[in-house]
Amino acid sequence: MKRTNPFESAMIQLSRAAAKLPKKEAALLMTLLSQPQRILHVTIPVKMDNGTINVFQGYRVQFNNARGPYKGGIRYHPDVSLDEVKALSFWMTMKCAVADLPFGGGKGGIIVDPKKLSQKELERLSRGYARAIFDCIGPDKDVPAPDVNTNGTIMGWMLDEYIKVIKSKVYKVKGRKDFKTLQTFDSHALRATFTGKAIGDGGSEGREEATGLGGLYVLLAVLSQLGYRIQGVGSRKNKKLNPKPSSLTPPLTAAVQGFGNVGYNVAKFLTDVGIKVVAVSDSRGGIHVPEGINPALTLECKKKNGYLAGCYCSGSVCDLKKGKTITNTQLLELPVDILVPSALENVLTAENAKRIKAKVVLEMANGPTTPEADTILYKRGIPVIPDILSNSGGVSVSCFEWEQNLKGQHWTKEAVNRKLKSKMEKETTNVWLASKKYKTDLRTAAFIVALQRIVKAIK
Ligand code: NAD
Repeated sequence: MKRTNPFESAMIQLSRAAAKLPKKEAALLMTLLSQPQRILHVTIPVKMDNGTINVFQGYRVQFNNARGPYKGGIRYHPDVSLDEVKALSFWMTMKCAVADLPFGGGKGGIIVDPKKLSQKELERLSRGYARAIFDCIGPDKDVPAPDVNTNGTIMGWMLDEYIKVIKSKVYKVKGRKDFKTLQTFDSHALRATFTGKAIGDGGSEGREEATGLGGLYVLLAVLSQLGYRIQGVGSRKNKKLNPKPSSLTPPLTAAVQGFGNVGYNVAKFLTDVGIKVVAVSDSRGGIHVPEGINPALTLECKKKNGYLAGCYCSGSVCDLKKGKTITNTQLLELPVDILVPSALENVLTAENAKRIKAKVVLEMANGPTTPEADTILYKRGIPVIPDILSNSGGVSVSCFEWEQNLKGQHWTKEAVNRKLKSKMEKETTNVWLASKKYKTDLRTAAFIVALQRIVKAIK
């Protein structure tokens, strides 16, 4: 089957939203956002443990900086392509605008299967990538972060390498009159070049789980708008907007595709509020546990075994009788209340959208739904809470991290989560109201909110 080009999907999403705006604005946005401002293609020679040199290909795409420095993660995956990085950097532009953060959008990627590298090779590759892009990044230029297969440790290596390169360049321009200024580069503030760092490197409390927690806040706010309340949580505002009783009945069930940073955390937070996560998966396949998984035990079991099969952990035990293995395809089509794609793009397509049985889709991965699937799900009355809203908790706390580094502060986890909750609830309400005003689906509404903010920044 032909793999859908994510950048083409992104452009269809853009044109659907632009069509709802005044003609002049729409034309401006279509011209401005149909291509990135800058594409960096880098080659990274890496000395392997056996002494040979492998040359890896990588990208950094700086899509748009109308609202502030480019912002976006770095992905390590064998399927990374320029079109994928372009799409992801476009979505970051929209995401930072919909979350009302002072950032534009960017994204990076390296074509590599990190599982085939030793830890030392991974470190040399990460440092090589930081050297290759160093003059295009910085706290006021472009601020990378982790994405699929990258983490706080990798950000730490990259930051260390970045600061080393900056310092070596300062040394080389010693003869210059402004040497003093260059010499006093504030290495503390330079830490704001990367986010998603470990706490010891200047990372923020709450960053690791922020995408999952932000997703929970967005979901609860949407469920509340749909007329569904979870005891003790969720906002009661705007009840009038959708007075129809929801077809959702407690206890809600969820299936989560992907069990990495985002998938694990979202499964944990859903469970914490009493939503039963009955299925999770990773690249090797999934498990179905009708009683609802215990996310922490499942993760522990997966780490021990190396795979999810057999990790049927519910309550306080793992028991082979409690579940069975399923494929990723089966997981997506389970009869659950909430489907949470949290792995890669293009998993909900024209082919399977008609078989989706979930009542709500919470997109935690970037770009999991193709435009064709969007149309089908909308017609079937299944709300899709779009990635640029539902997974914007990660970049929001990245923004808090950037701010803390620049101000030389360290906020408590409570303070971070309080700010996150208030941001997610406020922006979800804005998107919900836009969907009513423009009589459209939540994705188009989120794009409209983002595009209006981008236009304002240009003017
Ligand atoms: P991760 O590398 O920690 O986890 C990815 C998970 O997806 C793993 O469990 C992996 O096994 C699984 N996976 C890979 N290929 C799969 C396949 N073909 N089928 C099913 N599962 C598969 O990555 P992550 O940080 O959790 O990111 C997941 C998604 O969320 C990505 O789309 C990413 O862009 C998006 N996202 C991440 C963040 C963040 O803060 N980490 C923020 C916003 C969006």
